[in-house]
Amino acid sequence: MKICYHCEICGADIDEIELAVVDEKKLGFDCLTGDERKAIISVDTLSDTMDVQSLCDACIKELGLDDVQDQATSFPVNGLNLLH
Ligand SMILES: [Zn+2]
Repeated sequence: MKICYHCEICGADIDEIELAVVDEKKLGFDCLTGDERKAIISVDTLSDTMDVQSLCDACIKELGLDDVQDQATSFPVNGLNLLH
């Protein structure tokens, strides 16, 4: 499945990764509540693509989130972190 990360603020494409097996633990999705999952993740089974809302570097800077050390409470930043 292809996983596409989009910025939820400016809509920019942040990254795309191709995974043979989607390991939700590895991606950090297992710690989301059902509502959070629905808000952040949308799966298109036809194209075998998972769209994930996140934040791009520019918007993180804009929001002043780039110096947040403990990102465990903020999923968008946390999710983006998984890419690095
Ligand atoms: Zn952005």
